[in-house]
Amino acid sequence: MFSRAKLTLQICTNIYYLCMKRNKTLLTGLLSIAVLAGIGMQSAVPVTSKISTLKATAPATELTIYWIDTEGGAATLMVTPAGESVLIDTGNPGERDAARIFEVASQVAGLKQIDHLVTTHWHIDHYGGAAELAKKIPILEVLDKGVPDKLTEDANFAANIKAYQEMAVQKRTRIKPNQVLKLKALAKGLPNLSLRFVGVDKAFATVTKKTPNGAGCEDTKDKPADTSDNANSTVLVMNYGAFRFFDGADLTWNIEKSLICPQNLVGTVDVFQVNHHGLNQSNNPVLIQSLAPTVSIMGNGTRKGCGPETITALRNTPSIQAQYQLHKNLRPDSLFNTPNTYIANLKQNCNANYLKLTVAPDGKNYTVSIPATNHQKTFTTKTTH
Ligand SMILES: [Zn+2]
Repeated sequence: MFSRAKLTLQICTNIYYLCMKRNKTLLTGLLSIAVLAGIGMQSAVPVTSKISTLKATAPATELTIYWIDTEGGAATLMVTPAGESVLIDTGNPGERDAARIFEVASQVAGLKQIDHLVTTHWHIDHYGGAAELAKKIPILEVLDKGVPDKLTEDANFAANIKAYQEMAVQKRTRIKPNQVLKLKALAKGLPNLSLRFVGVDKAFATVTKKTPNGAGCEDTKDKPADTSDNANSTVLVMNYGAFRFFDGADLTWNIEKSLICPQNLVGTVDVFQVNHHGLNQSNNPVLIQSLAPTVSIMGNGTRKGCGPETITALRNTPSIQAQYQLHKNLRPDSLFNTPNTYIANLKQNCNANYLKLTVAPDGKNYTVSIPATNHQKTFTTKTTH
């Protein structure tokens, strides 16, 4: 039997989806009626969430990427012009991050399901929210590099990963290097869209026809070997027309170099998701300078990421026009920050504001925005990569 709370939740959810199909005025009207009638709308949205920008979107016609704030974890949601969704990582365990991802996916992006979930590696700030999220929204396919029996750096790995292994999904796929994620065809006239796994478990594939020699390979010094699963991160590149986006997850310094030296296997990109939340163990300048992005986006926390070496490497990359951060670095070394206008969340107790990127239908330019602050800036896609 349905409990009263469950029934209320179902009614509220139905009202919400009904409204999403109509228009915003109707949405506002019905929400007001629901509140006046004493129906607890709180139960329709996760109680822990404070995301303020409630925006129902029309069916997707543009490639959109959202960086959802998981306080130093990772959750990057892409929605293709065909309305198909690819979520890269799910933040930390517990209600908070899953609720934030669900809210952006369902209420901002208007999704009814996650078509593909990619888990880049076996650290809990990347797979932690998956099982909780699967309870809120159907996840059709999960792609990962295969769950190991144990993880040296996580004594509780077997217990931590259990919910992920047991969550209900339709399909599980093991990622191989150079594998292409099959995506739905786009409407006629739109550019080609592809998502390729450039590397996994330190095995990399060449993804460009031209493979220029990496610049600055001789000058870069190695750091102590990284034996953690960060070094095994899944690396992907998304192409939409001329537009290119790079997500290297938590790849670390020496492995980043092997992606570039002696040959640049990736080519250049437009947008670089800063590796490993911006920590100094990652973001080898030889990688950043060789990718030569126009925009960098860092999924950092208030005290995680924004490493001085990383910020310096970004500042010293001449191609970069704007550095975005999900959070302001609130440590004493606050000079290692981008200007406030490029930061989604400035305070410790934040509203979990997300960053959004929309690529124009022809792929020739793209706009990065922080909907909560009304910031937006348009960039021209590189004509050659
Ligand atoms: Zn991480």
